[in-house]
Amino acid sequence: MKAHDGMYIDGAWRPAAGQDVIEVVNPADEQVLATVPAGTAADVDAAVRAARAALPGWAATPPAERAARLTALRDVLDARRDEIATTVTAELGAPLKFSQAVHAAVPIAVAGSYAELAGTYAFEEKVGNSTVYHEPIGVVGAITPWNYPLHQIVAKAAPALAAGCTIVVKPAENTPLVAQLFAEAVHEAGVPAGVFNLVTGLGPVAGQALAEHPGVDLVSFTGSTAVGRRIAAVAGAAVKKVALELGGKSANVVLPDADLTKAVNVGVANVMSNSGQTCSAWTRMLVHRDQYDEAVELAAQAAAKYGERIGPVVSARQQERVLGYIEKGVAEGARLVAGGPQAPREKGYFVSPTVFADVAPDMTIAQEEIFGPVLSILRYEDEEDALRIANGTVYGLAGAVWAADEERAVAFARRMDTGQVDINGGRFNPLAPFGGYKQSGVGRELGAHGLAEYLQTKSLQF
Ligand code: NAD
Repeated sequence: MKAHDGMYIDGAWRPAAGQDVIEVVNPADEQVLATVPAGTAADVDAAVRAARAALPGWAATPPAERAARLTALRDVLDARRDEIATTVTAELGAPLKFSQAVHAAVPIAVAGSYAELAGTYAFEEKVGNSTVYHEPIGVVGAITPWNYPLHQIVAKAAPALAAGCTIVVKPAENTPLVAQLFAEAVHEAGVPAGVFNLVTGLGPVAGQALAEHPGVDLVSFTGSTAVGRRIAAVAGAAVKKVALELGGKSANVVLPDADLTKAVNVGVANVMSNSGQTCSAWTRMLVHRDQYDEAVELAAQAAAKYGERIGPVVSARQQERVLGYIEKGVAEGARLVAGGPQAPREKGYFVSPTVFADVAPDMTIAQEEIFGPVLSILRYEDEEDALRIANGTVYGLAGAVWAADEERAVAFARRMDTGQVDINGGRFNPLAPFGGYKQSGVGRELGAHGLAEYLQTKSLQF
């Protein structure tokens, strides 16, 4: 697969400062697809300097011009959507259909939404005798994960550019190829040199250098809570703004009057899609005790159907981690009703779609983020019990509620400590704010709320 052997800095592909490379592996067959340079602090420094130099010009560009560049970017991504899908399938392992429908389509929609918002957002407002300006926060350092590799870059780069910020992106080491494709698209779209920069590399080296760099004004990070905590500490010491999109352990609450079959089938599909590597996945299904056995049976059947269709997880390390969690679930007394801890194929990092019944709320598999195709089904006594279980983790990213009576579902959702809740399978909305309560993060992405993260206010009094 085609890969650049340099970094995209100041509008061109430039040689990396060091010699080290990262091998990109196809998780479906374990073959090395390509290599990309492993960036160092020197590459990060060059990229941040380019972003800082480009900042005054881009920040002063009229919003309509920024909107035009983002529209062009959306169009380039759209023209290259097949290439995006095949690239993500190769480096992440997602089935091609899923890559087309989600990994390619969602970032195009998000880029389009920011093209529109850049042109319509109120960057200036009147408050009594003041005029308040919403100004770009400055140079953004963006560190992204591999699970939705293009979406997570676009969810940071598009609002940053719309706001008038400049940006340096350090993508995940497992999925740098679609990040390089994105840099090509930014170039093709005519975004001025230095406004967008890409440095590939390892987290503890290039990622850390970016988070620590004094020329970065805002660190926007998506990834694990453990790394997020470190980044927040580094940014806090330098009094930099930080935005964190972290882990999740979302509850899917099936209230007793819900359409059980639909709730369970959609719930299983939600957990298994992208091989369970979705931070907002509803990995804990909560079912009333009277419907529990039926739900378990339906879930086991639904998971079995996924057997053939599911892609691998991203890496050998991730496979080992997920299988370890499944073993832990068995050891702690949960009952396996689908899948299990054996790798289903000899080649590739596959994990069988797995469902656990008789999961107690305090078990490890009900508390920690597994990030694989593993569903836990928990039994509740009444709504208060369901709420206690739903809110009983350190996370609060997303969730779902199912009920025949929508008002009842909404009343329950309002009491959940979580940033997003889908009611009766509500559709993904690229304009709705996405982000976590509690240890799932700080700040919001997407739509106008996501744009506001990249702005700071200045008030002038008259
Ligand atoms: P990770 O935290 O290991 O890595 C994420 C990014 O951080 C990568 O680019 C990595 O290179 C970098 N990184 C690693 N160590 C670093 C360090 N010391 N300093 C700076 N950067 C460093 O996470 P992952 O395994 O790549 O992704 C999976 C995790 O991401 C899961 O926990 C998942 O829930 C979370 N996630 C959250 C969201 C969300 O929006 N809330 C979205 C996707 C993934």
